[in-house]
Amino acid sequence: MILLKGLLINLLFILLLVLFFSMILWNKQKFLKIEYQGLFLSLLCSALICLSLFLSIPVNENFIYDLRFIPFLLGSIYGGKRVTIILGIVLILVRLPFGGDGIWLTISLVVVSSLAILWLNPKFGKKTTNWRLCITTTFSFIYSIFGFLVPSFYYGFNNIMTFCIYSIVLTSSTFFVTYLTEVLRTTYILQLGAIKNEKMEIVSHLAASISHEVRNPLTSVKGFLQLILEHRDIPDNCHQYASLALDETVRASDIINDYLTFAKPHPEVLVMLDIEKEILKCKEIIGPLALKNSVNMNMVFFHTTMIQGDPHKFRQVLLNICKNAIEAMPKGGTLSIVTTTNDNKTVVHIADTGHGMSPEHVARLGEPYFSLKEQKGTGLGMMVVFRIVEGMGGNVKVSSEEQFGTSITLSFPNAG
Ligand code: ADP
Ligand code: MG
Repeated sequence: MILLKGLLINLLFILLLVLFFSMILWNKQKFLKIEYQGLFLSLLCSALICLSLFLSIPVNENFIYDLRFIPFLLGSIYGGKRVTIILGIVLILVRLPFGGDGIWLTISLVVVSSLAILWLNPKFGKKTTNWRLCITTTFSFIYSIFGFLVPSFYYGFNNIMTFCIYSIVLTSSTFFVTYLTEVLRTTYILQLGAIKNEKMEIVSHLAASISHEVRNPLTSVKGFLQLILEHRDIPDNCHQYASLALDETVRASDIINDYLTFAKPHPEVLVMLDIEKEILKCKEIIGPLALKNSVNMNMVFFHTTMIQGDPHKFRQVLLNICKNAIEAMPKGGTLSIVTTTNDNKTVVHIADTGHGMSPEHVARLGEPYFSLKEQKGTGLGMMVVFRIVEGMGGNVKVSSEEQFGTSITLSFPNAG
């Protein structure tokens, strides 16, 4: 009975801390960076292991029992290799002061289970919830046999009832705590998805409602500014002001174009695209910006196939990607565009030698308003790229390495 009470108090603390961890995770984007999550998980599970040990119940002078295996197991499964090793060491170190022959049992069980978890680790992320539930519960059951039943015969505390209580509480607690963690994890992922969809919807509304109204007056402002610039007898400073104003209106109309493309993602004019011609046109448009940033532009065409789409939108995809690439190389570099034909796909590789992005930023690419350019960026460019390419039945792959550059691969189904 005392053992049961002790184990249930253990369980209560474990559940409370799992809930606390998930609460922190909900606010992750506000104050817990991805790189600190492993550290946080290690600290939390180590605290739980210590707490379990202090609340443990001695069965004889050599052995004490508690649920410390649960935080070790969960931390290792969800935290990866480094957390597994840290928790294994913590578990052994914390057990040492309690003494008794049980230490040797703890060391051997921790080493064997750590090795098994490390071996299984790469598979955990890819498997289903049921698989993870099965694995953790089986681990606990095996642990209860080797941790209690086997030594109980050698040390003479082989009371089958006590073993049953320990084994049932440990195994079922592992099941429930894993289940709770899985439910919280799924809800968290769903919530992230919902936030992204909500943002998309707001952008769609904005696009539909204001873009048309703003674009027409902007076009006339642009026209008049161009007329002013063509006048020879205006003072120099006015010329300068007008050209600045023109630059800004061009920027504003670019932003509005992005919004409009987002509102109508599917190509309206479907023609056979001459990829080479479109890329060369893009080079012509973006050339001055590349020159200003001392960026070399290399183009190689190996494709032998045609694709279908709206030429304006396709050009916008190229422009948005090339603009980002050039902006990522403020001190110069190389922007290369290579086209190939793979199986039944036409592929366009666009690579730069710019400052690159972290994996977190790559994952967020295409999210509305995601920009690291502060005042200068709108965070719409890549969103439009994804939208247009998907509308054309193609897909976008991004790989990037910080300090080395970014490479974006667009693949489109061949036409005809
Ligand atoms: P914006 O250019 O207005 O910031 P985008 O959607 O075009 O918005 O790009 C989003 C962000 O992705 C940029 O702010 C930039 O930090 C990052 N990014 C995009 N392309 C590259 C690239 N080729 N190299 C480095 N960072 C990039
Ligand atoms: Mg951009």
